[in-house]
Amino acid sequence: MAQINKRLAENVAGEFFVDESCIDCDACRQIAPASFRDHGGQSSVYQQPQNPGEQHRAFMALVACPTASIGTTSHRNARQGVEAFPVHVVDDVYFCGFTSEASFGAWSYLIVRPGEKGGNVLVDSPRFTAPLVKRIEKMGGVSLMFLSHRDDIADHARFAAHFDCPRIMHEGDHASALGIERVTTGTEPVRIDDELLLIPTPGHTRGHQVLLYRDKVLFTGDHLAWSPERGTLTAFRDHCWFSWREQTRSMEKLLPYRFEWVLPGHGRIHHGPIEEMHEHLERCVARMKTQ
Ligand code: SF4
Repeated sequence: MAQINKRLAENVAGEFFVDESCIDCDACRQIAPASFRDHGGQSSVYQQPQNPGEQHRAFMALVACPTASIGTTSHRNARQGVEAFPVHVVDDVYFCGFTSEASFGAWSYLIVRPGEKGGNVLVDSPRFTAPLVKRIEKMGGVSLMFLSHRDDIADHARFAAHFDCPRIMHEGDHASALGIERVTTGTEPVRIDDELLLIPTPGHTRGHQVLLYRDKVLFTGDHLAWSPERGTLTAFRDHCWFSWREQTRSMEKLLPYRFEWVLPGHGRIHHGPIEEMHEHLERCVARMKTQ
């Protein structure tokens, strides 16, 4: 729980505040940009919510925060934020909220599909917490967990045990040692079913992989994200743990695929027409080759 005596001085006066435990994961700024900003290495409240809609987003940010760094001075009930997740993104894809400090606040997603289509897929792992687990149960549970790479797996074992679902992950990130049920190898794409294509993208880590859903939504883990500063797709040179050259090659490998949405673990979500996204990806590859 956020502590008022550790409230950051950069917060404006009022109900919502961020305390000094903030790890600068960016979740609150994405979820409630009308209230939270980056003041340099951490987040703070630059404007208190001005209406019920902004207040709702601020409560969602409070709940999603991986370090419980957001609080309210009068200890308001955050139920509306809790009940908001998983929140709809596009078609049958939802953002789980409830990020985990173990994955530095990485975002995870739920694809809700009927049983005959293979059932629900949890993309990377949120924090294992009772309200979220109950909501996911009501939405049909989890039939498969896709784990993009070793950094964003958080409470994967607890989710897998609770929902009795297999996990799929690449051996390059020591999937066998983690007890993963479906371990992939090599660099060739793996078709999971007619809607889901797993594409190995080594670079950020040795075993990183992305997931393409219905040729429309690309779940990118820490491989690729939108940069609001650059106004285009980007990869994180400073957070490449395995090989930038490999990551550049992996990015180039994505060029033949078509998608409208990029849903990353870290970095910003973006949606655009297929052709436009392709151009952004081309620009990203070109830039990576110069870095
Ligand atoms: S969500 Fe929490 S940890 Fe992340 S930037 Fe906001 S206050 Fe900091």
